[in-house]
Amino acid sequence: MNVLVVNSGSSTLKYQLVDPDSGTWLARGLVDRIGQPESEVRHEVAGGAVTTSARAVDDHSAAVSTMLDDLRGGGTDLDALLAVGHRVVHGGRAFREPVVVDDAVEAAIERMVPLAPLHNPAGLMGIRIMRALLPGVPQVAVFDTAFHATMPPEAYTYAIPRAMTDDLGIRRYGFHGTSYAFVTRRSAEFLDVPLDDVNLIIAHLGNGASMTAVRGGRSIDTSMGMTPLEGLVMGTRSGDIDPGVIFHLVREAGLSVDEVDRLLNKGSGLLGLAGEQDMRSVRARAQGGDPAARLALDVYGYRIRSYIGAYLSALPGLHALVFTAGIGENDPALRHEVCSPLQHLGLHLDPVRNEAAQGGVRAIDAGTGAVRILVVPTDEEAEIARQAAATVRSSSR
Ligand code: ADP
Repeated sequence: MNVLVVNSGSSTLKYQLVDPDSGTWLARGLVDRIGQPESEVRHEVAGGAVTTSARAVDDHSAAVSTMLDDLRGGGTDLDALLAVGHRVVHGGRAFREPVVVDDAVEAAIERMVPLAPLHNPAGLMGIRIMRALLPGVPQVAVFDTAFHATMPPEAYTYAIPRAMTDDLGIRRYGFHGTSYAFVTRRSAEFLDVPLDDVNLIIAHLGNGASMTAVRGGRSIDTSMGMTPLEGLVMGTRSGDIDPGVIFHLVREAGLSVDEVDRLLNKGSGLLGLAGEQDMRSVRARAQGGDPAARLALDVYGYRIRSYIGAYLSALPGLHALVFTAGIGENDPALRHEVCSPLQHLGLHLDPVRNEAAQGGVRAIDAGTGAVRILVVPTDEEAEIARQAAATVRSSSR
């Protein structure tokens, strides 16, 4: 039995029909620019045809109907699904693991909206529509924050008055947890180390980017915080910044709180530094001699190295540094920029292995250092399907 993985964003609906045991996808698709005059609709069957069309899809209900029609048209028996797995960005303090959604869970996700105003409403909308349309199929919420629920208090606590942090839920939660769960398991298998023993530093470098320290297979620290804004330099997010900069922008530049929010989330990072948010474009500019792009790359790599240093001090030892996601998997120059100044820490990159155009899990170290260096392609949909299936199977036992 298969799992339908649904990722409902503010103007997009992405989905995959996945065999949860093998992790392979059977069909997948996307409805993009929901609510605009020309939405883009794409559906693909594994080993078969890709259909695309541009038409008006007015709202998320219409997008879900489009998805279900395309799946049925491709021969999927929707009533025979084991589960629908929903990506939910913020699980707050309430959710440490995936859950089958009922009315109480729906209400709890709704209460978390102030913590993730940009992300949770769309996820919730997807859940509500699917519960109404497929009432006989268990809907499972899988939270991006859940993998980090094992962080100790010294890693998740911000040093501001306790009364405020407790009332408002202010603490580090961390994100990309589904990816880290997948990559941790794959890395342990590759290294032939039991999952409960593996110590890793993982860099998930996509449009959003974060790093995690994994001790004994569990997250003990991560660079994103209460929101995805903290930590590394990202495509359009600043990452770490002195909070005093915000007061300065308000007082001296006259920006409103919403304007600062937009500036730091949508107008900063690589885009703010180099005028391009896509790493490939930044790198092309740097190669063409653009000093702003070169500085952007230097800041990007230095921030990653700073977190490696921090996490080395949080771990009792390290089996591997692991690169994943769009940039981590595909940009050998970035991996070189991160690793080559850290040879004294036992990170010895092999230039040929690093450059080899090869997919799959692979080691790219020279075999001479104390620490392995891995590239592990992430697969968040396979992980959501796996977790949703395990949740349904254990709750029906
Ligand atoms: P998302 O966070 O949206 O899932 P991805 O994991 O797909 O993002 O990562 C997108 C990033 O990966 C972009 O910055 C893109 O430029 C970068 N990327 C993809 N392929 C390459 C490549 N060959 N070299 C450098 N960067 C790449």
